[in-house]
Amino acid sequence: MDNKVMYSLSYGLFVLSARRGDKDNGCITNTAIQVTTEPNRIVCAINKSNYTHDMVQETGRFTLSILSEEADFELFKRFGFQSGRDVDKFAGFESHVKRDGDGLPYVTRGANAWLSCRVVSATDLGTHTLFLADVLDGGTISSAPSATYSYYQSHIKPKPGAAPAPSAQKRWVCKVCGYVYEGDELPADFICPWCKHPASDFEPLA
Ligand code: FE
Repeated sequence: MDNKVMYSLSYGLFVLSARRGDKDNGCITNTAIQVTTEPNRIVCAINKSNYTHDMVQETGRFTLSILSEEADFELFKRFGFQSGRDVDKFAGFESHVKRDGDGLPYVTRGANAWLSCRVVSATDLGTHTLFLADVLDGGTISSAPSATYSYYQSHIKPKPGAAPAPSAQKRWVCKVCGYVYEGDELPADFICPWCKHPASDFEPLA
């Protein structure tokens, strides 16, 4: 099977945030959908390598900030391209953050709505955990259209080679998210730090 057929599925884009003690964290995800209306429930799949995953598993709570077409690449870099184990992703971002009734953060910049959720059940999917969650609260942030994954690919992700870095090193681009790896050789076991896809989803940049 040509795995590219999977690219035709449509997805939204979200910042999924959690709070444990005084620690806020969040990650980019494209896997959140409403599955029932009565009760109002969604499912989210979170990669186990994300620090946010462990926080959601332990606290049973998270928020979703539904990203709009006004989201910029800096937002994706902030929440998708670094780990909450190493940095405070919300540092310097305070003016773009609000909190739900329990103090969980959600993002207001580049988002058009937010949801506050409580985990009902968790299913082990191997690389990911699938969380089924009740939607407890939510609100509208802006009227901008929700960003689809394909909108991200065509309008938000930087065009490869548009502004080539002055580097003698070879470069590979992740076909899924646009992350560019620089080095002598792309390691066979390389995992995209952003979208967690394997080296087979990278292609060389001229
Ligand atoms: Fe990627």
